[in-house]
Amino acid sequence: MTFGPLAIAITAVAVVGIGIFAYYLAMVVSKGRRVGTRGIVQRSRLTCPKCGKEFDYDWIPGGSLTAVRLGPSRYMACPICHKWSVFPIVQNLVERPPG
Ligand SMILES: [Zn+2]
Repeated sequence: MTFGPLAIAITAVAVVGIGIFAYYLAMVVSKGRRVGTRGIVQRSRLTCPKCGKEFDYDWIPGGSLTAVRLGPSRYMACPICHKWSVFPIVQNLVERPPG
C-alpha cells in the first residue's frame, strides 16, 4: 500500500473540516462570553422575515435535530408562522436570565 494522492486529498479535507469546525466553535464561545452567556445553551432573539414577529430561540452549539446548520446561521421553521427561513442565530445572541 502506497501513500498516494487520494490519501493526501482525504487528509487535506479532514484537516480543513476540523479547522472550520474549530473556528465555528471558537466564534460561538467568544460571542457567548461577550454577552455574558453562561453554560452551553445559547439564546438568540430572532425576528422572522416571513411574519415579522420576534421570538427567543434556545440552542446548543453544534447540535440540533430540528434545524439545518449553516455555520453562524440556521435554517429552521418559525415557531409562530411555521414558515422556513434562515436565521442568523449567532449574530442575535442575547443574555439568558439566570436560572
Ligand atoms: Zn414567522
